[in-house]
Amino acid sequence: MIYYDKVSKVYPDKTVALEGVSFGIEPKEFVTIVGHSGAGKSTLLKLLIAEDWPTDGKVFFESADIHKLSKGQTAKLRRRIGTVFQDYRLIPTKTVYENIAFAMEASGRKDREIAADVPHVLELVDLGHKIWNFPRELSGGERQRVAIARAIVTQPDVIIADEPTGNLDPGNTYEIVRILKKINELGTTILLTTHNKGVVDTVGGRVITIEKGKVVRDDKEGKYIL
Ligand code: ADP
Repeated sequence: MIYYDKVSKVYPDKTVALEGVSFGIEPKEFVTIVGHSGAGKSTLLKLLIAEDWPTDGKVFFESADIHKLSKGQTAKLRRRIGTVFQDYRLIPTKTVYENIAFAMEASGRKDREIAADVPHVLELVDLGHKIWNFPRELSGGERQRVAIARAIVTQPDVIIADEPTGNLDPGNTYEIVRILKKINELGTTILLTTHNKGVVDTVGGRVITIEKGKVVRDDKEGKYIL
């Protein structure tokens, strides 16, 4: 479904972020990418949503070379990939409902559909009772659950979560991992980056370890080894 084919990325200041990275991801997999800060994890995810370009190699989504897509095709691709970031990226002046509704409007959903789906997706992340609150009225863990709800409401095929638990305490971290696992069980492919051993151990499953821009391990039932 996703394939990184000998991907290298050198930033304009000559920082080598990735070097000859190759691996594939099957539909419905839950893949955890681990590595120290600066190892190249975020760069890998940015390439997948065509936010940046590889210096060498190709990234495929299904049979399409992501970096050869037209603007319109790139927009379509991005609608198939939900994103969750460490810093939540909620709009502070909008309520929880409006944050999620806004994402749905952007992907062309009708008002009636929005009104029906927002409460439903909030139930899925156990936040139905916070629908009319503003982000500043929520804890970090709750904000991240809103961000996850926003990412899944348009039913993407893939969720990429870049250090989603980076700002959270162990309890909230566990909760976010539990929700991501539930979403994966419902059929969504998940690509998660972390440098947290606890997260890797809780997720289980496939772990790809990157060090200094290179894949150094790819284990079906991985452990945190750095
Ligand atoms: P990680 O997500 O594992 O912390 P990143 O992919 O963010 O790693 O970064 C990999 C390397 O590329 C680091 O050395 C980082 O400083 C560098 N880097 C990331 N983004 C840029 C950029 N826009 N310009 C220059 N260097 C960058």
